[in-house]
Amino acid sequence: MIESFQHLEELARDRDLADVFLEMDEQEHAVPADMIVEALRKRRAVMRDCVERGKNGGESMGKLVGHEARLLNEAFRSGRTFLDPLTVKAELYALSVMGENARMGVIVAAPTAGAGGIVPGMLLALEEERNIDPERTVRALVVAGGIGSIIALSANISGAAGGCQNEVGVASSMGAAGVAYMMGGTTHQSIHAAAIALKNTLGLVCDPVGGLVEVPCVKRNALFAVHGLTAAQLALAGVDSVIPMDEIVEAMVRIGRSLPRGLRETAEGGLATTETGTAIALRLKEEANRRRAERAAERERAAQERKTGTT
Ligand code: SF4
Repeated sequence: MIESFQHLEELARDRDLADVFLEMDEQEHAVPADMIVEALRKRRAVMRDCVERGKNGGESMGKLVGHEARLLNEAFRSGRTFLDPLTVKAELYALSVMGENARMGVIVAAPTAGAGGIVPGMLLALEEERNIDPERTVRALVVAGGIGSIIALSANISGAAGGCQNEVGVASSMGAAGVAYMMGGTTHQSIHAAAIALKNTLGLVCDPVGGLVEVPCVKRNALFAVHGLTAAQLALAGVDSVIPMDEIVEAMVRIGRSLPRGLRETAEGGLATTETGTAIALRLKEEANRRRAERAAERERAAQERKTGTT
């Protein structure tokens, strides 16, 4: 079992990082490596489908988001974007996945649904823009998953446990390691890419408006996909994180514990309690009450009709 990032670095210093994770899984869970790779091939295909559907998606269930990917896609296609294509595609694909999530479509939780746009956004954009073999992306998913699983040994990966750093921060960290791997980086560079990404999300709170995974979650995924690419770029250039990854994870856990309850997915603080956030939550509540009343009236009507029909 890989107990820490320090252990991982010792174990995999001069080895292919994906091979090390696959061997570990085989030893610990008796799942053959080819089965894991095949499962992740399917996950990559789901991510790809999700991106294609989401690019032109419409309004979300809560009606707060949904058109972001379509708008960015239109701007990109018509030459109205100013960032480089890799960056724009990472944002676009992250938005596409999150739009699908907010429309209750099928996505891959990576590691959670709320942060599910970041890893596919980064990896699929890179694959496309640098003509990387999709099999390499599948192996990068092994790496991203392995990094996430080591973080999960000490941290609960949910906004409710420790704020958005535990979801979006972890996803950005996983994606950064995967990108470093895809670009031919060493194990050391993948770990430092993960560390640079994670430490620069520490303190990020979870404050979803109306309790829906829509605002700020959808756009936040686009921004932190780019954040992860930046972390990978720094690590690949030889920049190390001064604070080791294991200590960053410990800090994340401590910070998460010290966050007040209102900033841990309760929708009782932060953006959720701004004037606009409060008004939206009220509207959502009124709409839910109205729908509940309509359903109750419908049931009542049907019961009356049955009664009348039998007497
Ligand atoms: S704000 Fe909360 S619900 Fe939204 S992505 Fe972050 S952790 Fe998930």
